[in-house]
Amino acid sequence: MALFDIPGWSVTTAPVPESSSSASKKRKRSSGDSSKLQSAEVNFEKLVKKLKRTSSVDVQGEHGEKQVPRPGPTGDKRKTEKQKKKTKSGLDAEQRKQTISRPRPLRAVEKDSRTSPGPAKKTKTKHTDETASSSQAAASAKKSLDASTGGLTALQQGMKQSLDGARFRLINETLYTTDSHEAHSMMKADPRVFKDYHTGFRHQVQGWPTNPVEHYISSLSTYPKKAVIADLGCGDAALARALVPQGINVLSFDLVSDGAFVVEADICSKIPLPGSEGSEGEKSDGEGHIVDVVVCALSLMGTNWPQCLREAWRILKPSGELKIAEVASRFTDVEEFLELVGSIGFQLKKKDDSNSHFTLFEFKKIARRMKGEKEWTKLSSRADVLKPCEYKRR
Ligand code: SAH
Repeated sequence: MALFDIPGWSVTTAPVPESSSSASKKRKRSSGDSSKLQSAEVNFEKLVKKLKRTSSVDVQGEHGEKQVPRPGPTGDKRKTEKQKKKTKSGLDAEQRKQTISRPRPLRAVEKDSRTSPGPAKKTKTKHTDETASSSQAAASAKKSLDASTGGLTALQQGMKQSLDGARFRLINETLYTTDSHEAHSMMKADPRVFKDYHTGFRHQVQGWPTNPVEHYISSLSTYPKKAVIADLGCGDAALARALVPQGINVLSFDLVSDGAFVVEADICSKIPLPGSEGSEGEKSDGEGHIVDVVVCALSLMGTNWPQCLREAWRILKPSGELKIAEVASRFTDVEEFLELVGSIGFQLKKKDDSNSHFTLFEFKKIARRMKGEKEWTKLSSRADVLKPCEYKRR
């Protein structure tokens, strides 16, 4: 199966070929991406509005076999006599238009179908029993169609899926090609970006044979209850949702909070947890830490991701564990990646590349001497040992 083989969206199994010069150009691009995303968002909304205007189709259209354009005022007049004739099902054309082909607002559809009486009920009082029962049947068919498709035709669903996929890929690209401060500002300005990203991310996950979070849920559930786990870039906090009810402490951080499990924080900046960076000159572990395990599952995204591992080191207890899962195709050179993580102050304990999609690493925090900001800037400039994870349209 192709990597991330989801209808409408896909990602290449192999790293997307990219010359080193174009890769470095991508990494440097930062200022234009937010506005690009915003204009894409405006276009997206325009398209959705357009969908709303063009949603008048006949029954066949609902099944994606035939699309009938909405007649204009002249067309309506010409059809008047014809529409009065009963169809085989006993439903006249006007009723069919009202009950099935009526343009429906995209967002209000669910509410309409569940709560409002709708045109079908009104029709019942005006017509014969036979017509009324047909009308009821049509209304009930419409109701179930609305519930399963959100009121969209097959064509519209396809278009919406493509638009959602395009938006997901754009957000994804932005997250991988800008630094975390920019990503954080973007999410703060419009939390829908985070929501839409995760809707897309969940679609991707459904197509994966395994999910690193599932692996961590099962391995960490055997840890002592007093263990403190920090999930950096937790997404929808699947780890905490599974382990907190078992009495295990999971502190979850991401760019947007869900108001419950997730604490808002830029994990490449100052994570709101104690811990120092040690003292200048001599090797040390720092002090004040409370965290036993740090998990970074697919979250080393921004161009400054080495700063996230700097934070992981700062918040971990001496000999604390760092678990990293990353998409296998992101690695330009695994040895270089290990060397970089090593110079941040971690010793490799285990590497598992048996999975075709992900590579799992386990590190242990080791004492190191404190680094100056210049050294950190230099380390961060090596971030391109991990390429962006690119999702392609099929
Ligand atoms: N770990 C989760 C989510 C993976 S998606 C899982 O495996 O299911 C990657 C997540 O990392 C996204 O939610 C993204 O917002 C988060 N992330 C990336 N960079 C981040 C940063 N600098 N600060 C906080 N979260 C970040």
